[in-house]
Amino acid sequence: MQSGEPIIYVAGNPDNGPLESYDPESGTYVGAIPAFLAQFAADCGYDVRYYEPGREDRRAGLAENLQVDLISGCVGEERYANTAGERLVLFTAGQDGEEEAYFLCFTETAPEDFRDALRDYAAGRSQAWWTGAVLEAAAAAPARTVPAAAVAGAAVAVAVLLAALVVLLRRLRRERRRARARSMTDPETGLGTAAALEDAYGRVMRDQSRLFYHLVYIHLDLDHVGYLGGQEQARAFLHRGAQVLQQRAGGADVAVCAEWGGLAVLHRAGSDADAEAWASAVAAEIRDADFAGGALQRADVTAGVCPLGDEHRTLDQALFHARQCALTAGREGKDCRRCGTEQCLHCQERWQLLSDFDRGLERDEFELYIQFFVDAHSYRAVGGEALSRWNHPRRGRLNPDRFIPLLEQEGRIGRLDFRGLELTCTFLEKLARQGVENFFLSCNFSRGTFAREDFAARVAEVVERRDFPRKLLILEITESAQLSRQEAEQMLRSIVAVRKLGVRVIFDDFGMGFSSFHDLQEYPMDGLKLDKDLVDHMETERGRILLQGLVQTGHRLGMTVLAEGVEEDWQIEALRELGCDVLQGFRFSVPLPAAEAEKRIFEALRQPPDDGEGEQNGGA
Ligand code: C2E
Ligand code: CA
Ligand code: CA
Repeated sequence: MQSGEPIIYVAGNPDNGPLESYDPESGTYVGAIPAFLAQFAADCGYDVRYYEPGREDRRAGLAENLQVDLISGCVGEERYANTAGERLVLFTAGQDGEEEAYFLCFTETAPEDFRDALRDYAAGRSQAWWTGAVLEAAAAAPARTVPAAAVAGAAVAVAVLLAALVVLLRRLRRERRRARARSMTDPETGLGTAAALEDAYGRVMRDQSRLFYHLVYIHLDLDHVGYLGGQEQARAFLHRGAQVLQQRAGGADVAVCAEWGGLAVLHRAGSDADAEAWASAVAAEIRDADFAGGALQRADVTAGVCPLGDEHRTLDQALFHARQCALTAGREGKDCRRCGTEQCLHCQERWQLLSDFDRGLERDEFELYIQFFVDAHSYRAVGGEALSRWNHPRRGRLNPDRFIPLLEQEGRIGRLDFRGLELTCTFLEKLARQGVENFFLSCNFSRGTFAREDFAARVAEVVERRDFPRKLLILEITESAQLSRQEAEQMLRSIVAVRKLGVRVIFDDFGMGFSSFHDLQEYPMDGLKLDKDLVDHMETERGRILLQGLVQTGHRLGMTVLAEGVEEDWQIEALRELGCDVLQGFRFSVPLPAAEAEKRIFEALRQPPDDGEGEQNGGA
């Protein structure tokens, strides 16, 4: 970002010995491949970064979601779904006719010039060079020392080195096998891992006894516990959950930690009702632990039960169903919910939608709509908000309420948010080219997306490719999820960093949900957008006083105050009196397809500016 070099994101292999592995102490990847990539970056002018390094091997997921340009540390037959699959072989090693290629894999997003540069660079590295590099990396990692003789041999002859490399790689393969076995136990909770669940699920589904099995998902709202008591409390709470589960699980059950805050059990029970009763009891017992000063609520621990029965579901599907049920139980204030036929239909539809999402993005099914903002005094359109519509091939045009909450829940919203940013910046550039440089555009980002480490870098990357005045871009932080303390700190860093780019940041839906005065204290913002609910409550004296306080507070903190959901004339008058700066709502305009909005922007510019008594039509 600072250097202006193109940023290339790499997904690393955390557990592949001297070639590449994650070092928890430094929080980075170490080994021969990271060293090679660092040298490449320095020599060829790229900013090569490992994407969210960690102990987990996330390469397949990152490749599938096209979040990275390069997959590193690939061996043998591993392939990555959805990548362009172009391999760049670094070297091969083998003995007795058993050859293995060690390669990198470009994803579809890898820029062409970067591919060319890296290909050329790798071509300049011989087998012997790699042998030396691997041995050097092995010597630098004391935990996995190579026989001293082999290291000394590095100075002697290439033939000796290659032999040493073969020995080393064999050991690596052995270690990989061991790592796989280890990965059946989750180090955090002592329960099984997702891999163990997959194994067990495969076995059960091949067996007649599957009729007795249920997939139970226990949702622990660790975000909430973390918010109340800190991250350590959240971890302790997860451990407590795991302990209860271990005690309650029967001999035929397989209990695992499916994700942070999500425990899953393949549970054998005589009937659906038995399974439900069991899951309810587990949830209640976990909740009864005296955590966070007893501040837990019913919805903080809930269970979902998906009977496996005759249906041929994949594990992912069953997990999705059970998780959906657990989350629904939370919303309904119940301990547990079981997939009944009706509920399942609902889950089924959501599952299908989620499965269609990636394809939808690839095929440009998401369309940009724009809803105007008007100046509270002149009623002239001063900007617009980018909103998504999904033109689904079978379901027709879908409004955001059909897919945004689902994508947020499943942690998939980030890709859509960034697509929205791309479209918004393209639109702003188009306006700038036509000489329109006083019309701003805002786009929505979920809090979770803002709280990601690479957020600001990715925004910078998109913005820097486009030519328009930066201050015309506004990022709205939407109300969706509560953040842990760590995430909140990261969100603060993101806000500071994107504002340094010249981009503006405002709170959306202010005054509702999780946003609060605390947020105003914590985050330096350019504006706040008062939620529609507050605007609706202006009818009452209380509502008015509240709104007045918010407008004044916003102004005194140097922020622009916007109001949304304006539908009636009396609301316009009242908001004007209270001193709101910018208004938005159906009274002025509904969201319009981008092409239509563009037409109106240019038409409005051709009209002479009015005296503030003009039509309330958003200048269009
Ligand atoms: P939002 O950001 O609060 O956007 C305003 C929503 O209120 C829009 O609904 C808009 O059509 C609606 N609205 C505007 N004026 C009025 C009014 O006067 N009366 C009423 N009743 N409604 C009004 P829409 O387009 O359905 O969007 C719903 C929500 O979906 C948005 O709420 C936003 O949070 C989210 N969203 C839409 N596109 C995206 C996206 O690309 N990324 C993310 N993260 N969220 C998005
Ligand atoms: Ca918004
Ligand atoms: Ca809003």
